[in-house]
Amino acid sequence: MKLTAENALRELVAGNLRFVEGCQTSQNVAINRAELSKGQSPIAAVIRCADSRVAPELVFDQPLGSLFVCGVAGNIPTLEIIESIEFSMQHLGTLLIVVMGHSDCGAVSAALHNEVVEGVFARVALAPVPDLDECIAYNAEQGINTILGTSRMIEDAVKKGIVQLVAGVLNIETGVFELVAQTKLSN
Ligand SMILES: [Zn+2]
Repeated sequence: MKLTAENALRELVAGNLRFVEGCQTSQNVAINRAELSKGQSPIAAVIRCADSRVAPELVFDQPLGSLFVCGVAGNIPTLEIIESIEFSMQHLGTLLIVVMGHSDCGAVSAALHNEVVEGVFARVALAPVPDLDECIAYNAEQGINTILGTSRMIEDAVKKGIVQLVAGVLNIETGVFELVAQTKLSN
């Protein structure tokens, strides 16, 4: 099956369901390493928070080589992260970009309570409503706008309907990854 942003997203949603139900199928075993040594073709790029409870390969039940993961506290698409994702699009054919927020995010909480005023934490986007869960979802969603406003290459690919950006929030307690925003694909 030809990889599209749509079926990549479908695979992540299905993998998350397996994770939630404890029915993981991805195996990261020695026999796969020989294959991996020949190259990678990740189905998606993921911008994750540095939080130790957030591991995209586990949450989406994917093997090594399947996800191009970039991380920073607060899952902020910094310039370096956006450049890394451009690389994955250009050289690895990535068509789906996921901004992955999560419940109980310390970076968003710190920003919400004005505990930090500079650095990457200060770039957390806060929702008009001063509620942690609202802000976590809002910050993930705003990640899409930051990427589109920073990278002409990604913006063009999204406008052509080839590349899709999605934002979602992982509920650490249930394991459910819930989409909160996504760009349109051409059909
Ligand atoms: Zn976090």
